[in-house]
Amino acid sequence: MIVRVLGSAAGGGFPQWNCGCANCVGQRNGKLGPPRTQASCAFSIDGARWFIIGCSPDIRAQIEATPALWPRAHRDTPIAGILLPNGDIDNTLGLLNLRESQPLHVYATAAVWRGFVEGNSLYRTLERQPDQVTWHELEDRRAQTIDGFELMAISVPGKLPPHLRDAEPDAAHNVAFVVRAGARAFAWLPTVAAPSTTLAAIAHEVDVLFFDGTFFTESELDGLSARTARQMSHWPLGGEDGSLEFLSELPCRRVLVHINNTNPILDPTSDAHARVLAAGVEIAHDGFELSL
Ligand SMILES: [Zn+2]
Repeated sequence: MIVRVLGSAAGGGFPQWNCGCANCVGQRNGKLGPPRTQASCAFSIDGARWFIIGCSPDIRAQIEATPALWPRAHRDTPIAGILLPNGDIDNTLGLLNLRESQPLHVYATAAVWRGFVEGNSLYRTLERQPDQVTWHELEDRRAQTIDGFELMAISVPGKLPPHLRDAEPDAAHNVAFVVRAGARAFAWLPTVAAPSTTLAAIAHEVDVLFFDGTFFTESELDGLSARTARQMSHWPLGGEDGSLEFLSELPCRRVLVHINNTNPILDPTSDAHARVLAAGVEIAHDGFELSL
């Protein structure tokens, strides 16, 4: 199985268009490496058919940056399916970008799918032909076999997307994905609000854990937002009860994704960056690829 990180940044990307924080300024000045698109990954069992997790507003650029995802014929795509971990704009808006009458297979829980489709007049652009989008419903913790791999969606603590703030809270609004092929497995968890026994169980049954690296500190958005990391449903890495301690004790390979533009780990000269590496945790970049 091949897994490739298409985008490693949190919502807004890096740099974020309206952000003048030290990191974003540093990136624009060429001091902090290449820019980063919004979080998603692609995986394939055979190297020919690919599934994407998260369909970010950057999907078009992500496909163009990834030759394995290019069409192989006049009208074609190697993308066999798209998995949605939650209904945030960051994970769904890209579907509207893929509107060029290509049949799409979308895998999502009912809560996520209805949140995107219902009352969304823009969705009609994906209904120009009867088979344009096929939704495959995922149920919490029920494994499905798809195309040579086993997929399980597992609800983890998160939050409702801002445009669904009046909806009924439903655990299936935010899920982790565990993808298993034979004896090897990885998990994709870009949004983890807090530690839980479920989370620990997932981490112990996979070979690779792609984990929420949004914030390093609880107060990282001071002066930029009224909310703290945990109030935004992201367990920060550092601090006394930070996720880095949890991650440092896991036996699997651990890779941070969904990194916010304010996060000091983006600066390779920072203490935060050094602490992450010292804990044995990797920091993904766009195009980061591994085989398992
Ligand atoms: Zn910034």
